[in-house]
Amino acid sequence: MNIAQRKFDTLVIGAGGAGLRAALQLSQAEATVAVVSKVFPTRSHTVAAQGGMNAALGNVTDDNWHWHMYDTVKGSDYLGDQDAIEYMCRAAPKTVVELEHFGVPFSRLENGSIYQRPFGGQSQNFGGEQAARTCAAADRTGHAMLHTLYQQNINAKTHFFDEFFAVDLLKNKRGDILGVLAFDIESGEKIIIEAKTTLIATGGAGQLFRTNTNASINTGDGLAMALRAGIPLQDMEFFQFHPTGVAGKGMLITEGVRGEGGYLINAEGERFMERYAPHVKDLASRDVVSRAIAIEIREGRGCGPNKDYVLLKMDHLDAEVIKKRLPGIRDTCMTFLGIDPIDQPVPVFPTAHYTMGGIPTNKNAQVVVPVGTGGEEAIPGLYAAGECACASVHGANRLGGNSLLDIVVFGRAAGKHIIDYLKSHRRHQALPDESIEQALQRLAHWETGALEHESSDHENSDHAKNVSVAQLKNRLQQVMEEYCGVFRTEDVLAEGVKAVQDIKDQLEYAHISDHSSIFNTARIEALELENLVELGLATVTSALARQESRGAHSRVDYQQRDDERWMKHSLYYLQDNRLCYKPVRTKPMTVDTFPPKERVY
Ligand SMILES: Cc1cc2nc3c(=O)[nH]c(=O)nc-3n(C[C@H](O)[C@H](O)[C@H](O)COP(=O)(O)OP(=O)(O)OC[C@H]3O[C@@H](n4cnc5c(N)ncnc54)[C@H](O)[C@@H]3O)c2cc1C
Repeated sequence: MNIAQRKFDTLVIGAGGAGLRAALQLSQAEATVAVVSKVFPTRSHTVAAQGGMNAALGNVTDDNWHWHMYDTVKGSDYLGDQDAIEYMCRAAPKTVVELEHFGVPFSRLENGSIYQRPFGGQSQNFGGEQAARTCAAADRTGHAMLHTLYQQNINAKTHFFDEFFAVDLLKNKRGDILGVLAFDIESGEKIIIEAKTTLIATGGAGQLFRTNTNASINTGDGLAMALRAGIPLQDMEFFQFHPTGVAGKGMLITEGVRGEGGYLINAEGERFMERYAPHVKDLASRDVVSRAIAIEIREGRGCGPNKDYVLLKMDHLDAEVIKKRLPGIRDTCMTFLGIDPIDQPVPVFPTAHYTMGGIPTNKNAQVVVPVGTGGEEAIPGLYAAGECACASVHGANRLGGNSLLDIVVFGRAAGKHIIDYLKSHRRHQALPDESIEQALQRLAHWETGALEHESSDHENSDHAKNVSVAQLKNRLQQVMEEYCGVFRTEDVLAEGVKAVQDIKDQLEYAHISDHSSIFNTARIEALELENLVELGLATVTSALARQESRGAHSRVDYQQRDDERWMKHSLYYLQDNRLCYKPVRTKPMTVDTFPPKERVY
């Protein structure tokens, strides 16, 4: 086979915060590390994170990791695994200090310590007064983190494959993952990267929905790669809609605005969150605020000519606070809306934001799968961290500020575990040709573009002539928004499953270009759409099956949370779109379990 081949101790797919934090740990321990990224590392979506990262430093309000743990378990609507949540919340303060020592320029308080702002779902004393737990670098925290981690990796001599697209994982018969097939986006040249250990850190799949806050690269490639390698995806029905996206456009207005004192009003000028969450009002959990906005609009109290958004008010705040703490938000509003939030409220509407589900992992970031005896076991040498993983620290609803924390805590945990694993696994395993062949076949389908399909006499050739990858992507995003949005019902979800399946069927015969020359970027769009379609199916199928309302999954026909039947994680397999379930890990590492309670804010 005439394909370049390289060998490393560890392969990290993805150069966002999770991938870079892991790579740094490994390179500093003198392991050889390859990081593959389809964009230049500092363009990964982590760069867009605004509001900040949670850690119970107690710089502004009294705080403690156990309160943070309570809030996270409650925020997850009791679907989060409490051992992983304890691990994350305990590790948070030292992880922030570590980042500070790497050089992250956090904003400061007068006394020089790290600035922290209040975010939704944060409390002191297990549900008491509002806490201020989110460490921020103005409203560009992700940018500060990602650039710092990248510089540290350059210093530690991590090997980067920038602008390489990972196609599929390579494995042997036993299911061990031995590397990846990728290609150089500029030249199209293929490469096989072999490794003793692999970390998937490819981020989320926000591009599943038409209106979203995500970068166009967030197509969930790693999740789909895992599915194709026979690994199930966990809790895919839980997709977070952020309450405050720019109406009609989707760009994020950070929760930090409400943390700094901004609030939502309806067409009557009413601060409506007082009715939905009397205690914490606008700083209720994201699922609660998104639903409240959707209800206000449905009941006719939306603003604007079409009554289809609400307003986020910050014109009552001190202009200096906006300029100093929310400069990026002010920029976004002025550029995309022509509105200066210092003078005028901003039209907002819930927008798809975060993939709670993902590749099932434990607190060491090892990928775990069910075994016949009823338990689960780790796949040796395979790890996942960041938004593509489901540890599960976010359960049915993630708290703002907990993802930047998740990516560094579990990126670091993966790095540490891999270093130990490498000590007893010193050799590369043989890579079977069949596995490479399979990955190449997937690529070959789009190699000639679908120009070839156009001339085929397949019964679907009519479709092939008419439908392009770009059109199918639009259709998928529309279907997901319409059939699997903030509120869900049985009939609509069932139609959604059919609609996504139909898109999947058509994609096989779609064309990628109207021209005789096909750019690699067009091929990538096709490969990404194949990935998205599988994730769309996973999401609607899991959502249809779950007959309860929990966190972000809100069923109009089953409005209550049902702990007796549904306090369990769903696992979706590619083969036959099969679903099975596994118990929530309710036992923390050292403290008592937080038992499920009614969730009020
Ligand atoms: C606008 C916005 C604001 C946010 N603000 C906050 C916040 O304030 N606080 C917070 O806690 N969370 C926030 N989040 C969420 C948080 O930023 C993300 O969940 C987190 O940064 C994801 O990091 P990651 O390392 O998992 O993935 P990403 O940063 O998304 O990186 C994924 C990487 O995988 C690579 N990749 C993917 N597919 C392939 C492929 N096929 N081949 C090669 N490479 C591939 C990409 O090139 C990229 O390097 C925000 C999210 C958004 C969208």
